[in-house]
Amino acid sequence: MSERTIALVTGANKGIGYEIAAGLGALGWSVGVGARDDRRREAAVEKLRACGIDAFGVPLDVTDDASTAAAARLIEDEAGHLDVLVNNAAIAGGFPQEPTRVDPATVRTVVETNVIGVIRVTNAMMPLLRRSAAPRIVNMSSSVGSLTRQAGPAAEQTTGPIAVAYAPSKSFLNAVTLQYARELSGTNVLINAACPGYVATDLNGFRGVRTPAQGAAIAITLATLPDDGPTGRFFDDAGQVPW
Ligand code: NAP
Repeated sequence: MSERTIALVTGANKGIGYEIAAGLGALGWSVGVGARDDRRREAAVEKLRACGIDAFGVPLDVTDDASTAAAARLIEDEAGHLDVLVNNAAIAGGFPQEPTRVDPATVRTVVETNVIGVIRVTNAMMPLLRRSAAPRIVNMSSSVGSLTRQAGPAAEQTTGPIAVAYAPSKSFLNAVTLQYARELSGTNVLINAACPGYVATDLNGFRGVRTPAQGAAIAITLATLPDDGPTGRFFDDAGQVPW
């Protein structure tokens, strides 16, 4: 097993994922830049390396079994283990998403990326994570997935527009995170969900009010939790987010 601390960030070619990779790389870690597009991935790796970060490209489409298996083999060859997995890749699915008018195919596509993709990648990486002394998994969720907030009196203000694909995909991801935490309880694997806040990225047409680096901060905190840190919880910068 190599001595290096190894992280993989999915969807790391831009936005919050890129900044998570930059932040973990700044700790001196080796960071796998998971991205499906060759040109965008290599551009991100070059940019990170220019900042002195030990970045390496990991071709990865989270909706594809063969791509995910190949990514696990690449990390096996590169390092022989994985310390941190940040499941960041996601899509919004396009708006509007009113439930009564949505194309069911939109919901299926969003869930395939935002939920099944996380399960696919996590399970492919699990053998590598189990070889780490302190495995951490961070699932990039969103407060729009908080059923408590969606059911609250000020949902429009706290969780944005009605979105029957994207918002429930994050509720589903939160529920999935809890199931992993239950199974992994008693092991050294800590798994948590993170909300980055409303960040200006492609995902929302750059309407967000936070910078990608600000959005990355909570993921970096959860990726670097001590051994007695929390698991099976949902956090943003202000603390725990209600499920
Ligand atoms: P973004 O700029 O659109 O980046 C999304 C990333 O996911 C891109 O790298 C994209 O790659 C990648 N991706 C999408 N589908 C993929 C697939 N099938 N395989 C591999 N990569 C794929 O969005 P972001 O705002 O940084 O979002 C990052 C995370 O934060 C997401 O989980 C999002 O739901 C969450 N989040 C964001 C906000 C916000 O305000 N921005 C708020 C709450 C939660 P391509 O370049 O190839 O498309």
